[in-house]
Amino acid sequence: MKKMMLFYVSAMLVSALTVFSTAEDAVKIKALILDGQNNHNWKATTPVLKSIYEKSERFVVDVATAPPSGQDMSIFKPDFSKYDLVVLNYNGDKWSQETCDAFEKFVAEGGGVVSYHAADNAFTDWKEYNLMTGLGGWGGRNEKSGPYVYVELGQGIRKIVYDNSPGDGGHHGPQVEFLVKTFSSEHPIMKGLPEAFLHVKDELYCKMRGPGENMSILGTADSKKEERGSGREEPLLIAITYKKGRIFHTMLGHDVPQCRCVGFQTTLLRGSEWAATAEVTIPCPEDYPTATQTSIRE
Ligand code: ZN
Repeated sequence: MKKMMLFYVSAMLVSALTVFSTAEDAVKIKALILDGQNNHNWKATTPVLKSIYEKSERFVVDVATAPPSGQDMSIFKPDFSKYDLVVLNYNGDKWSQETCDAFEKFVAEGGGVVSYHAADNAFTDWKEYNLMTGLGGWGGRNEKSGPYVYVELGQGIRKIVYDNSPGDGGHHGPQVEFLVKTFSSEHPIMKGLPEAFLHVKDELYCKMRGPGENMSILGTADSKKEERGSGREEPLLIAITYKKGRIFHTMLGHDVPQCRCVGFQTTLLRGSEWAATAEVTIPCPEDYPTATQTSIRE
């Protein structure tokens, strides 16, 4: 009799656990990475991004790959409505009007977006896209794209400068290690993270310009003149709202070695979670880089 009871109890436990894990899967964030064209190594970085997301156990990830440059883009029609989050690893030919409209609708209705590294080089003339990414560079950007946005120290306070001087947008010097400093420590993405982390050798984007509307600067780095930078404190991690949608924009992660930085990965995951759900539950990991020591995961 006792044995029988034990059997029933353990059977019940197993079925409870099964239900639990199915329920857990159901609450995972459904993400879609877009790639297919880029002046960067998207064929190598997309699998790395996918693996970062999946290892966190907070996301399930699909990939939609656009046709190569110059080919018929009308066949590229991802079904955004199936996802909570769209991750942009794309910098290339304009999508079809139908796909652009569907993407705008997805974000306007509350969809989350991550703009990853060179995605902010894309689509200079697509106004709504630039409102979503907040800041962009290259691709013929200039004062018509919006102000340069950077941080300046005045009377002991770091304040945001919107600088309308003419000039092109987007620049970086040779790759260097640099300190990524928190700007908005109360924003859910940054709250509870150390004030700064040393990032591995990467491009330090500077002189970015754009509409910069509805934007919070989350993290910055000093772009040094002696490293062929702007001499300014430049925004590198930003959060934007567009209608009901939320966008996390990271300018870090030029190629695979840069994506191995635990600071890159942690801010990416937390930013992605915020974009998709407005909340952040992913904790700061024990191997997070310090202000003087980089940290990578193979
Ligand atoms: Zn790059």
